Order: sequence, then structure tokens, then C-alpha cells
Amino acid sequence: MANVLIIGAGGVGQVVAHKCAQVEEVFENITLASRTKSKCDKIADMLPRKIDTAEVDADDVPQLVKLIEKVKPDMVINVALPYQDLHIMDACLETGVHYLDTANYEPPEEARFEYKWQWAYQDKFEKAGLMALLGSGFDPGVTSVFTAYAKKHHFDRIRTLDILDCNAGDHGLPFATNFNPEINIREITANGRYWENGNWITTKPMEEKRVFDFPEGIGEKDLYLLYHEELESLSKHFPEIERARFWMTFGPSYLKHLEVLQNVGMTSIEPIEFQGQEIVPIQFLKAVLPDPASLGPLTKGKTCIGNIVRGTKDGEEKIYYIYNTCDHQACYKEVQSQAISYTTGVPAMIGAKMMLEGKWMKPGVWNLEQLDPDPFMDDMNKYGLPWHETWLDKPFQ
Ligand code: NDP
Repeated sequence: MANVLIIGAGGVGQVVAHKCAQVEEVFENITLASRTKSKCDKIADMLPRKIDTAEVDADDVPQLVKLIEKVKPDMVINVALPYQDLHIMDACLETGVHYLDTANYEPPEEARFEYKWQWAYQDKFEKAGLMALLGSGFDPGVTSVFTAYAKKHHFDRIRTLDILDCNAGDHGLPFATNFNPEINIREITANGRYWENGNWITTKPMEEKRVFDFPEGIGEKDLYLLYHEELESLSKHFPEIERARFWMTFGPSYLKHLEVLQNVGMTSIEPIEFQGQEIVPIQFLKAVLPDPASLGPLTKGKTCIGNIVRGTKDGEEKIYYIYNTCDHQACYKEVQSQAISYTTGVPAMIGAKMMLEGKWMKPGVWNLEQLDPDPFMDDMNKYGLPWHETWLDKPFQ
């Protein structure tokens, strides 16, 4: 039985705290820490059993070290923002505890996410006998496990991979993002990028569009090609993949709002002078947009995230689709959060459980597709993210 420190008390932190609290046989002691302690206390009050809370600035390594030495956790689950990843990894190394996150490091001053900064910790973690599990959310996370599962059970060779992320939920507001607005908008307004025949191909934001008929009553939705971080690790760990792409659904109203915000400069990450103070437009925008956590009670409908894998088995070409659908209102009923936070927080808990139970524990820095997918997939069925698989008769073009 373990002692875990969760850092970050936003939408995802709330779900991780709920799910860890539900699995008392693994997560015996839980501490939830974040920049604003009142948010941790509010979450703690919702839970069926007592957890501890603390205040920490995760950009301050000595502060983190002090907290970790006090709490003495077996591992840290980092669900703060990607900017804190390296600081928290440093503090874990200094105190000798394992590490897990759900999003790769991104320098605050540059909208560019890459694994190179975190992969550079490989030797340090290995030598210290510690494990760092990177990207244990849904995408990245489950989409990486789905790829490993497809390869292990259904394919000799994967030729193409398309990850389809559909949020068919409706919160009834004119414009809001489903997770941290700053991280979300930085991701969407960046150029698209995909992997093809050993090269990265760059596209303009929203340049590539497809339509897909999603299962379980969701129906046809528009998808746009984005760059997403698991493409980097999957193309590295499955070098046989000829083409890997990531797609996300957006409705016309969302795109129109985003276009206007971009045109007027509100999505910029360049600091500007405003009334004698320096502000970053996108951070100001975050402050005026609805808090993603407030969307929980409003959002109706489903998410559907999954992988379409084309490849060969025993010389025969096959097209395989594996996905999870998640209902926003059912998530809210269980953990008072919408499905985007839920689909990220549950895999974070499962990844931590895999480590603490020893099923995935090994020193070094790992992406999820490098580990055995089977026990993780079993736990998805058990802890609220059941998955489905089917064969398609035509490829996703
Ligand atoms: P939120 O913005 O809702 O929450 C972030 C939390 O981190 C807040 O509690 C915030 O504190 C805290 N925080 C920020 N900076 C610091 C700091 N310096 N020290 C301590 N705490 C800090 O984000 P989400 O919960 O939506 O997302 C959490 C993470 O999950 C992000 O990294 C995001 O990229 C990732 N994610 C991953 C997905 C996946 O599928 N892999 C999908 C969705 C999200 P405060 O309240 O004081 O601001």
C-alpha cells in the first residue's frame, strides 16, 4: 500500500484525487498539493475518505523538495501544467521518489512541446533506480497503450496510425475550452505536423480536414489535423509506422471564435505593456474564459477517442479501430468533472497503480507504449474507461 503526492488541483487533479481515493487498497495515503491550497481543500471535501492537502509552488524546486520530504510519498503524480514537469522531475530525483505526468514539458515562452527535455533525464532516473512515466493521460497515454495493444495482439506490422479525438459534448456556452485554455489554445493555433516515411510534414493550422462517422450514436463530425506529442514517441518506438497523424473535432462556432481571437491578437504568447503592467494576452484570455472545471455540470454528450490502425497480420491487410466513449454527465455524476478531465485523470491513476503494483515499475524514463498494455487495458475496463475494438472495411484517408 502506497503513499502518493498529487500536484495540481485543476480539472484533472480533481479526477485523479477521486479515483485514487476509490482505490484504497493501492493508494493508502493521498496528499493533494497545488499553488492555491483552497482548491485542494475544496476537492478534499468532496471525497469519501480523508486526504491531506498542501500549498506548493511547483516552479520552486527547494519548496517541492521540502514538501516531498515532509509527505514522504512513494511517487508524485504531476497534474499541474507542462511548464512544471522538469522542476518536479528534479525534485523527485533529489528526494528519491518516482514520477508520473500527463503532458510533456513545454517552455512557457515558446509554444513547442517536445520530449527531448524529459528524455534527457533517462540516465539520471535509471542510475537513481527511479521510474518516470511520461504522458499517462488519454492522448497521450491511452492512445499510446492502444497502439502497443494493437501491435501485440493484432498486427505483425503497423503501416499507418490515425488518432481520432472527438468531443461531441455541448456545454451551451458560446466559447470555452475543455481543459486549461492556455495549453489548449497554444496547441490548436500551432502548425499541424504529422509523420510520413521518416519525415515530419508541416501543415497550416486547421489546413487538413476530414469527416468521420463516430460510433455509439455520435455520428459524423469534422476532424482537423493537429500535431500531438504522442506522434513523436510513437514514431520513435514503432519505427515501422509509415504515417502517423492526429485529428481532433471542432465545431464551426468554436473555430470562428478562435479565428476572431487570433485575428485581434488575444491568443498571442508575446508579453505586452498594458496600463504600466506587462501582461501576456493568452493568459489574460484564460482569466476571462470560463474555468474548465465549471463546465462539468453544463456539459452533455459524449467523447470518443481512439486509434485507427492499418497494417498486416500473416500477410493480410487489416484496418482496426479501437476506442473509448465517455459520457460527460455520467462522469459528472461520479466525480463532479466533465469527460475531458475524467478521460485524463483515470489513466493517470491507472498508470500510477501500474507502477506501485510493480506491473510497470522499472528505472528510467518511459512512454506508455514501451510497457505491457494488457494490465493497463484490464484496469481501463474496471475503472470507468471501457474500450471497444472493431475492424473497418475501408481505410481512413
Ligand atoms: P488546470 O488549469 O485546470 O489545472 C492546473 C492546476 O495546476 C491548477 O490547480 C493550478 O493551480 C496548478 N498549477 C499551475 N501552476 C502551478 C505551480 N507553479 N505550482 C503548483 N501548482 C500549479 O489544468 P487541467 O487540470 O485541465 O490539466 C492538468 C494537466 O493535464 C495539464 O498539464 C494538461 O496539459 C494535462 N492534460 C493532459 C491530457 C491528456 O490526455 N494527456 C488532456 C488534458 C489535460 P492554480 O489553480 O493556482 O492555477
